[in-house]
Amino acid sequence: MKNYHRTVGKVELISLTDGFGKGRPTSIFPNSSLDIWIEEYSELLYPDGFIHPRYGSCVIRSEGKVILVDTGDGPPDGNMIRDMTDKGINPGEIDLVIITHLHGDHVGWNLTDNRATFSKAQYLISKVDWEYWTNLGTEPHVREQVLPLEDMGILDLIEDEYIITDELTTVSTPGHTPGHFSISIYSSGEKGFILGDVAHSPAQAQYTHWNPTFDVDPNLAYNTRKKIFARLENEGTLVSAGHFPDTGFGRLIRESHRRYWQVI
Ligand SMILES: [Zn+2]
Repeated sequence: MKNYHRTVGKVELISLTDGFGKGRPTSIFPNSSLDIWIEEYSELLYPDGFIHPRYGSCVIRSEGKVILVDTGDGPPDGNMIRDMTDKGINPGEIDLVIITHLHGDHVGWNLTDNRATFSKAQYLISKVDWEYWTNLGTEPHVREQVLPLEDMGILDLIEDEYIITDELTTVSTPGHTPGHFSISIYSSGEKGFILGDVAHSPAQAQYTHWNPTFDVDPNLAYNTRKKIFARLENEGTLVSAGHFPDTGFGRLIRESHRRYWQVI
């Protein structure tokens, strides 16, 4: 098993993987170039010529709280609960489940057999995303994995810059969905960032304008990505990126005119 554990000051991060998606790179990123994928990112292409974005989540330990960020694509194929227990975390010890945005690959394990998978957890969701997705009304993943949380009385709708603990704050990063947020970590002088779906591939470190087809507002998503990447690069922040390969831990590094994703 790869080293799935990192620290940011006193905060502990544990990377989890639920499974992998699959798609043609130029289908997922319609404004990308297949030539560039082949020439510069061959390590991201599988033998079938596809990219396989990871469905990643992160457990954060901060100030005595155990926090799960995103719950993967879920059953029947997802493996997150087993991955979690293999790494020594019991679903019953999660205090907070925080969902970066309401896409199906981020809410899959919220409920199991109509009960909260994380039995003692309160679930935190963006108020803006809640309003957007509940108005759409028909998405099965919202009906099955999100709406019941409200009836069960375990849902809190949160707004920008929500203070999770003294070390963790949400940061509004809209575009991928209207209420999408990331999480900023600051502890003992060190910085970390839970990216969510601000980006889906390490190739976007350099080709930041490559928008995935899943962005609800591509222009806003691009502007958010550009701004956040510049900040993370300048500050040398440790990043946890749920759809990136391996454990999703890395940094954005610049060498002359090129920015790249350095796995750490
Ligand atoms: Zn996603």
